[in-house]
Amino acid sequence: MNVINSNTNDFLHNNVKVLKARVSRTAYQGMGVAVVALIIATLAACFFDTGKVSLDGIVHVQQTNYALWIMDAVPFIFGFWGQYSSTILAYEASALVIDQTKELRDKADSFEKQARHNVTHDLLTDLPNKELFYDRVEQAILSKGGDHEMLSILLIEVENYKQISDTLGRNGSDSLIKQVSVRLKSAFSAPATIARIDSNIFSLLLTGAESKQGVLAMAESIHRVLEESFFVDKVKLSTHTNIGIVHFPDHGGDVDTLVQRAGIALYVAQNSNKGYALYDSSYDAHSPKQLTLMSELNQAIERGELELYYQPKVDLRENRVSGAEALVRWNHPRHGLLNPDQFVPLMERTRMIQSLTQWVMKEGMAQSARWDQEGLRICVSINLSAKDLNNPELPDLIAGLKGRTEVNPECMLLEITESSIMTNPETALEIINRIDQMGFHFSIDDYGTGYSSLSYLKRMPLKELKIDRSFVEDILTDESDAVIVNATINLAHNLGLQVTAEGVSDIEVLKQLKREGCDVVQGYLIGKPMPAEQFSDWFKSKTRTSEKTVH
Ligand code: C2E
Ligand code: MG
Ligand code: MG
Repeated sequence: MNVINSNTNDFLHNNVKVLKARVSRTAYQGMGVAVVALIIATLAACFFDTGKVSLDGIVHVQQTNYALWIMDAVPFIFGFWGQYSSTILAYEASALVIDQTKELRDKADSFEKQARHNVTHDLLTDLPNKELFYDRVEQAILSKGGDHEMLSILLIEVENYKQISDTLGRNGSDSLIKQVSVRLKSAFSAPATIARIDSNIFSLLLTGAESKQGVLAMAESIHRVLEESFFVDKVKLSTHTNIGIVHFPDHGGDVDTLVQRAGIALYVAQNSNKGYALYDSSYDAHSPKQLTLMSELNQAIERGELELYYQPKVDLRENRVSGAEALVRWNHPRHGLLNPDQFVPLMERTRMIQSLTQWVMKEGMAQSARWDQEGLRICVSINLSAKDLNNPELPDLIAGLKGRTEVNPECMLLEITESSIMTNPETALEIINRIDQMGFHFSIDDYGTGYSSLSYLKRMPLKELKIDRSFVEDILTDESDAVIVNATINLAHNLGLQVTAEGVSDIEVLKQLKREGCDVVQGYLIGKPMPAEQFSDWFKSKTRTSEKTVH
């Protein structure tokens, strides 16, 4: 603070000096003019009085002519006035500059604060997001863990959210979620952190509850509070809410385990008529496949149950299949082929995601190298998970795999999401830059669904923006989606990036995207994800008949 004040004082002092010097110069010029005028007036008065110009005459008029006395004073008045007004003016001007600088600095500070806030908060409800919630739970565990004081986590799910969203659209479901968040916030007097950790899931961290019975009573009251009807666009709506409850330290010693087990309790709550359930270890045995998967994931990689499928990408500028996105599948011995949505989010909650990323990178690079050797020009895109950009070991892992697989990195695109960058932008930027220096390229996946700062995007060595399928699918029917897609294409091009539209499943949508200058398309219209061998055959057949197949 003192440093700031002394800097401000120096700044003021220097400005005052500069401005004073300028005004003083003008005052001195005025003084000079006044002295010249005085001399001329004295000489003229002397000549008119005595008929000639002489020293005696000058002394005489100086003693007798009152007008000259006044004129004698003028240079001094100029001098004083100049000094006085220059000081006042200089101080006023400097103070003005300092005021304006401070105002600008305040504005920049508040923008920065807002940006920081947005990274840790849900934009719709302004509640803490998943990252901040996990952080708070970790802090609470650290500060209370020693005393073994009880902490409780409640996961609150709006079960029919998707149905409501399908019926009323995104605005309707957004409005419902906002109303739910307001009710939740106003329902608590006890210290609680309420967060929105998924589109339809809120989580609650309760510290210092008096008894387990008290927590159950609270869950019951939340259930009642959310049972009251909501109004969205004058439509009366009822929500079905489920609540899963866990206690620390009884049900887990870390945030990952606690949230995972609260998820199991949530599942049990869905099937109970109370609408809420407290976790019990016996639930694990009877829990549905999604919940038992978690324990099987570890071995899935070792047993070779994971497989990469490849979905084609078509370059509209060159009119050819130019690449493929690698999408992981799990050939589960009992449940059959599982899509990533059924297990990647589970892995992301724990450090297991690092093993998945490692496996996917190795397989994807090896496949890319094989295609390269066969002379097939297919660039492979790989999805990185949100947590990967926080892992400082990732660049070394990639460097090792690059050497081992002999892949051409120029042919690889690593897909990252906006939220994965914004969780910890400086670390992410450093990791991205290191990988970029090895020759790999980066793409922003699901663009438009997360919050990202253009100033960061501008600093990233990106090659591609992928517009999320939720915008692409409806461009012909939803005006705002059409505007978003068009704006994103222009933005990407202005940043020198290629644009890929994902989820293209309709020929009219593809034609519209082409008219708007979209560079690359991906979607069921062109091809669904398929195993590598099938993709190779498909690619060869398409390349042979490319004129007919690429629209
Ligand atoms: P994503 O990266 O946005 O992948 C695109 C998803 O959209 C894929 O689903 C793809 O099958 C699907 N899709 C493509 N075209 C269409 C279409 O025309 N219509 C419809 N309805 N869907 C289409 P998938 O394979 O289930 O992957 C889902 C998400 O799982 C991916 O979204 C990605 O975020 C994640 N994921 C997939 N593989 C990996 C992986 O290896 N590692 C990580 N960390 N995440 C992965
Ligand atoms: Mg992707
Ligand atoms: Mg995507």
